[in-house]
Amino acid sequence: MAVSCLSLSITNLTVTPPTKSLKQLRTQKSLNSTLKSLSKSGKLDEALHLLLESHQSRTPFGQPNLESYTTLLHACISRKSLSHGRRLYLHLLQSEDDTDLLKNPTLSSKFITLFSVCGQLDEARRVFRYGVEEMDRVPESVYVAMAIGFSKNGNFRDALLIYWVMLSKGVEPGNFAFSVALRACSGIPDIRNGKAVHAQIIKAREEPDQVVYNALLRLYTESGSFDEVLKLFDDMPDRNVATWNALLAGFFKNNQVVEGLQTFRKMQREKVGYSWVSLTIILAVSARLTALYIGKEVHGQIVKSAECPDVLVLNSLLDMYAKCGLMDCCRKVFDGMPFKDLTSWNTLINGYAINGWMSEAMTAFEQMSEAGFRADEVTLISLLSGCSHAGMTNEGRILFDRMRTEFGIDPNLEHYACLVDMLGRAGRIEEALKVVKKMPMEPSGSIWGSLLNSCRLHGYVSLAEVIAKLLFKIEPSNPGNYVMLSNIYANAGMWDRVKLVRELMERRGIKKEAGCSWVQIRDRAHGFVAGGGFEFRNSDEYRKVWNELTKEMEKSGYTPDTGVVLHDINEEMKVEWVCGHSERLATIFALIHTGSGLPIRITKNLRVCTDCHAWMKHASKVSKRKIILRDTNRFHHFHEGKCSCNDYW
Ligand SMILES: [Zn+2]
Ligand SMILES: [Zn+2]
Repeated sequence: MAVSCLSLSITNLTVTPPTKSLKQLRTQKSLNSTLKSLSKSGKLDEALHLLLESHQSRTPFGQPNLESYTTLLHACISRKSLSHGRRLYLHLLQSEDDTDLLKNPTLSSKFITLFSVCGQLDEARRVFRYGVEEMDRVPESVYVAMAIGFSKNGNFRDALLIYWVMLSKGVEPGNFAFSVALRACSGIPDIRNGKAVHAQIIKAREEPDQVVYNALLRLYTESGSFDEVLKLFDDMPDRNVATWNALLAGFFKNNQVVEGLQTFRKMQREKVGYSWVSLTIILAVSARLTALYIGKEVHGQIVKSAECPDVLVLNSLLDMYAKCGLMDCCRKVFDGMPFKDLTSWNTLINGYAINGWMSEAMTAFEQMSEAGFRADEVTLISLLSGCSHAGMTNEGRILFDRMRTEFGIDPNLEHYACLVDMLGRAGRIEEALKVVKKMPMEPSGSIWGSLLNSCRLHGYVSLAEVIAKLLFKIEPSNPGNYVMLSNIYANAGMWDRVKLVRELMERRGIKKEAGCSWVQIRDRAHGFVAGGGFEFRNSDEYRKVWNELTKEMEKSGYTPDTGVVLHDINEEMKVEWVCGHSERLATIFALIHTGSGLPIRITKNLRVCTDCHAWMKHASKVSKRKIILRDTNRFHHFHEGKCSCNDYW
């Protein structure tokens, strides 16, 4: 069976002689303790050699037993050493007197675990099948090991299937099996599977333990059944940090940020404390909301902690600083990290790219390869989209071609989307269309959408009409496409067509997404909707700041460009209209409520319009403030009348 494929790997194995001679190993006990200490110090070659040699010697004392094999296998798992594990498996298959050991559930489970942590699911499955065929009764642990193997490799359906097979064979599930089944259910969109397992837990003889409860919390959080989460949390007999973390994640997933933060504070008050996972969750939210104040608070907690933070929490910290536009802080944290993984490098590179610092991104990319890391799909998406936004079309094109030859990565849909966007933005629309026609997969709505945007940038009306027609078929209810087409018509002064698009939207019941901006003042986010905030706009403080700013901005050369207003209304109304765009309201609010000279950070749900972009540049100049605007696509750092995007967005 497995022999042919296993034997291939043996040739690569070098076995060095053991440090202790066999004669010294008088008893089995000393064999096992030597194996243990060799495994512990990572000397797997020596451990394996010792085990095989004592097996061959057939001395009454030195024969390896179940414990010897378990010890070595355990070390193989923790060091993910596939070659040693394979060698051991092959040895058991070939040695007549020890084949029975393969029917041992403990060893079977360990082999399944080893092969699955090394990503060799086929081999894991083979061990499992051998167990099912040869053992009289396969215990829960073997099924569970196989199910975990599938889950760990992202194959949740097969993991759940193993659980159902176990039930069909009459094996009664315990808490271990329940928690594994629930984890599999969390990865499957249909909540009915999870509810079925939940029902079995309620009926089971064994009381559910904390791990099962936490897995249930996670399941309902993932599926968005937040009422269930709250109910479960209240009903639980004991709660540990993992329980609280599940609740925390639930609040944030449900967009109840305030409740989530309150929960975090409550954790400290009730002396539950926090884990690195709790901080990772909070940092992810701070990154999403540009809530620098909260992110910095978490950073403070990490610094104060006596324990060394894990790489996951530091990666989230990097991401938080990057998404808040503070690349200097991001770099500082990065440089101070004692251990960096691929995600750390990817986060740094992505941070530079989304903030428009492309030369730094490219340098970091080089440093990454020098440090021995190989770029993956994520690295390339960051770099390609950065090149696209920075107008570095040729560099991006070269990078795309290097993907296959140099990094061994087949470009996926996202990489193609970056390439098409990059060429389109640069006005090389024909080349972009050629890529779309030749790409090996079906172009997505977002690829056509980016082409439509390129038509807007370069004023290609008739091509835009063709693309829009296609898009209305693929994504009939995406308001962005309709707005984009009417923008293109408006720019060309074709008001009758603008009206037609608006009527089409009305007929199809599609509403334009309202522009919203948020600005973080200390620990609170203040939101503004385009055209809204009347009370604020009528206040004296608003009028004062607005009038002063407008006067200064006119002096510095700003005139409103009303071309961005899609409605055919008179000029005065149009000016009124653009002045009410949400990012301007947020800017004025921040100017009133933050100390002079402090940077202003705004997050917007849509792309910034041309006129607001110009307004922001002038506003940064006359107010002497840095304004960092994060819209759906990228960052704009406005400073002294200029923007980091060089007006290329
Ligand atoms: Zn605007
Ligand atoms: Zn900009």
